[in-house]
Amino acid sequence: MYKETEIAIVRGMTKLIGLIGRNIAYTLSPPMHNTMFRTMGLDYVYVPLPVEPEHLKDAIAGIKALNFVGVNVTIPYKEEVIPLLDWISDDARDIGAVNTVKVEDDSTLSGYNTDVYGFLQSVKEELNFVPQDKRILVIGAGGAGRAIATGCVKEGAKRVVLVDIISEKLENLKKDLLSLSPTTEIVGYLPNETEKIETELSNIDLVANATPIGMNPQDKPPIPLNSLNKQAVVFDAIYAVKETATMRSARLAGCSAAINGIGMLVHQGAKGFELWTGKKPDTKLMRKVVESHIYENQNLLE
Ligand code: NAP
Repeated sequence: MYKETEIAIVRGMTKLIGLIGRNIAYTLSPPMHNTMFRTMGLDYVYVPLPVEPEHLKDAIAGIKALNFVGVNVTIPYKEEVIPLLDWISDDARDIGAVNTVKVEDDSTLSGYNTDVYGFLQSVKEELNFVPQDKRILVIGAGGAGRAIATGCVKEGAKRVVLVDIISEKLENLKKDLLSLSPTTEIVGYLPNETEKIETELSNIDLVANATPIGMNPQDKPPIPLNSLNKQAVVFDAIYAVKETATMRSARLAGCSAAINGIGMLVHQGAKGFELWTGKKPDTKLMRKVVESHIYENQNLLE
């Protein structure tokens, strides 16, 4: 397993990148990026920047004033940051959320959403799955669910089935997805519409859990997966445990492959790294860093 042995040396010329969010004490992004800067000999440092809501505007102005190269933006500011930026990418506009900001040479701020790329790259690499012409069921219509469902629709999915406990969230996401593709079938269910969900599951190609449910060994998956088609593959956005309740349930239902969200986390980070530095990082090493923090330093999960 990968071990961290060196300490980054910050010099007068070192370039700054950070993470703006709330409750970010256990973020894995600093070790992931700093290890790559060190191993690639790049003079950058990645630092946590906890920000309270009333200071978000000042914080974003501050990254410009302090000559940051860029920042990641996380919960709860991924949507709120958009009006503070000068330009956003198509993915960021379609999802309505930004997770990566780049300070351009002329000091304007560009916003990107690299979660879509992270998800698509992870399922392609680990499950050999591409959404085109496929049926996908996404549980959770929050931040991660929006990114996953949007990515699937934009990649030409045949049918996207959404499940969330709040009908307003379902309807809003359905409306946004329909405006992106008139050809993908989009339906939404509440978790208690069990018969309809069972029918969908028996015919599905990929199930994605985008709720935080399933981190504890005694947890049940957010929806029962007994009727899951055995040829289906399963993705869980949760990255803090090796096998989530959804993955375990899928395995017990005889499903062929199930992965957690580490790959998505790594690839969304790798895309940001590339936007900031112009260099492609070694995603296998990034993954080792993340795994060593999650699986060896269990205090990260407290
Ligand atoms: P979020 O915005 O709170 O979205 C979760 C959604 O799921 C909410 O709409 C929630 O409703 C809904 N939900 C809760 N229980 C449900 C159930 N039983 N059935 C259906 N829907 C249910 O959270 P998020 O930011 O999207 O994060 C979700 C998970 O993805 C977290 O575990 C997070 O760590 C992970 N994540 C991973 C990555 C990665 O790179 N791997 C990236 C982003 C997020 P309520 O609001 O009513 O609870």
